[in-house]
Amino acid sequence: MKVLMIAPPGAGKGTQGVVIAGHFGIPHIATGDLLRDHVARATPLGQQVQHLLDRGELVPDEIVLEMVREAMEQARGAGYVIDGIPRTMEQARRLYEIGLELDMTADVALHLQVEDAELVRRLSQRGAEQGRSDDEEDVVRRRLELYYEVTHPILEWYGERGILVTVDAMRPADQVGRHILTALEVMKQMTEGNRDLPRRPVDLSGLGAAFGTQG
Ligand code: AMP
Repeated sequence: MKVLMIAPPGAGKGTQGVVIAGHFGIPHIATGDLLRDHVARATPLGQQVQHLLDRGELVPDEIVLEMVREAMEQARGAGYVIDGIPRTMEQARRLYEIGLELDMTADVALHLQVEDAELVRRLSQRGAEQGRSDDEEDVVRRRLELYYEVTHPILEWYGERGILVTVDAMRPADQVGRHILTALEVMKQMTEGNRDLPRRPVDLSGLGAAFGTQG
């Protein structure tokens, strides 16, 4: 299974990425985690990007794409769940090229949908609990702004490629996780059984209320 996660900050990419990786037995590749690890270890790369992470700005494409290419090469044959990239249309195109080169293009682009007020609430809670410097209020505003400006528009492209699955991620994490795994299991059957059939985007965001009441 090869999954890309696309979602605004605070939507639960990290949490659900771990759930997906565990369920399918695939590596979880998170660009934000890889970059924060470099910063924590004060590597030359970490020192180069720290000010960008602190301000919620994007790190140059070359750096994140190289990181992901390396991680994808290591994951060869196993599949992946990638979280944090693509952030821009250019990254989406180049990631697709890397995927073609390695014969590892994504089966699913998983979009987690959450309203802004809830994102701000979650991020300020995480900021208080984990002290992540980019969860401070003005940086959160900048990260959300960037998401809507440059990341959100990519979704249409994945829709056209027929691999987009949108999930309502407003509910508690365990319910969202169950919903995602159900959707991905269905997609897995489809991609494995019908590789050459044209596919359509799947929008499950309207199912939120029904799933929520069933718990
Ligand atoms: P995240 O953990 O995904 O919220 O990412 C944290 C920060 O890492 C972002 O605010 C960016 O500064 C940087 N970052 C992560 N992924 C990317 C990417 N694909 N392109 C550019 N910057 C990124």
